[in-house]
Amino acid sequence: MKVVIVGNGPGGVELAKNLSGEFEVTVIEKEELPHYSKPMLSHYIAGFLPEEKLFPYSLEWYDRRGIELRLGTSALFIDRAKRVLATSKGEFPYDVLVLATGARAAEPAVPGKEHLLTLRTLDDARRIKEKLEEEGEIVILGGGFIALELAGNVAKAGYRVKLVHRKRNLLGLDEELSERIRKELEGIGVEFHLETNVLSASENGLNTDRGYIPGRLKVCAFGIAPNVELALRSGIQTGKGILIDDSFRTSAEGIYAIGDCAEYNGMILGTARAAAEQARVLASILKGESASYDFFGSTVFKFADLSLAIIGRTDGEGKWLDDETRVFYRGDKPVGAVVFGDLRKALRLEKEIREALNPS
Ligand SMILES: Cc1cc2nc3c(=O)[nH]c(=O)nc-3n(C[C@H](O)[C@H](O)[C@H](O)COP(=O)(O)OP(=O)(O)OC[C@H]3O[C@@H](n4cnc5c(N)ncnc54)[C@H](O)[C@@H]3O)c2cc1C
Repeated sequence: MKVVIVGNGPGGVELAKNLSGEFEVTVIEKEELPHYSKPMLSHYIAGFLPEEKLFPYSLEWYDRRGIELRLGTSALFIDRAKRVLATSKGEFPYDVLVLATGARAAEPAVPGKEHLLTLRTLDDARRIKEKLEEEGEIVILGGGFIALELAGNVAKAGYRVKLVHRKRNLLGLDEELSERIRKELEGIGVEFHLETNVLSASENGLNTDRGYIPGRLKVCAFGIAPNVELALRSGIQTGKGILIDDSFRTSAEGIYAIGDCAEYNGMILGTARAAAEQARVLASILKGESASYDFFGSTVFKFADLSLAIIGRTDGEGKWLDDETRVFYRGDKPVGAVVFGDLRKALRLEKEIREALNPS
């Protein structure tokens, strides 16, 4: 069986890895580089990691596994009747096609946006790193995990960091948890400008509703825009992302979607961990094994030296079990948790919560 995968991010590469050997696997990727780690980009920008360490798999690794990797190749259109993918470098017939096209960084919509950089690819990271080394300081827009990871790492490396966020809360968490994260990051020198809306950008700074913030290097790190264009153009149903059912099937026969481009029940999980987990479950499904995915968002971040796990649903009151662990409930059922520090404890808790929500 021929499986063609569009996208070589964590979703695409993990799927290829799990299917290789049993299926004929081709990966179509528009970038010229083999798979690299996006979660490590801010460590690279801060100078903690040389560029070559971003690449977990060499080109020989793809060869050895029998995965045909077509780099520098853009997928353009799917002829669903003929089961053929048209690309910038020719046509690829498939039995199964998997869209793992990911997302791009959301673009700011303010006057002067050409003075703002975004962070998604290694090219973006190279540009930011070069300018950071020239300027010695950075202004980061956003209050999600990409913004906080970048702020934490770059501040830890000794650069001056200002973080501008339109809300008071960070990572969508409540005030108490946000405050704790803010204090940790302030402790290593991050300067916070919260509840601050950017009105316009210029070469030398930002105009905000709370005054002018100087800074020549400004990076937007607030949200993603799923890459749905290929699906849309090929008549596959999309919402914010490519619409899928609980087995990753799109509206088109033989075509699946996973990772940041896929929307299930209004949710796009938006993490490397979710993309890789979905890939492993889809691989089992394609092999005819019984497998299911629970679309339970859970991930681990590292903001400089602060490790943090956000598990499941974290809205509502919550109860501190100890200094590091807050658990959230619906009725008396645990549905989510936030864990600082001990990530092994976080994994144990995640397992308990998942089991409580999906009793077998
Ligand atoms: C700076 C940064 C830090 C992050 N930190 C974390 C973290 O700590 N933990 C975590 O879990 N997640 C983190 N993430 C998020 C994580 O990287 C994403 O959720 C993950 O990469 C999604 O994987 P994916 O395979 O769905 O898509 P992507 O990684 O976006 O890969 C999609 C690939 O498809 C290719 N593509 C798209 N369209 C086409 C086309 N038409 N033809 C050919 N190729 C195409 C793209 O070039 C891309 O290589 C971070 C992201 C960034 C940017």
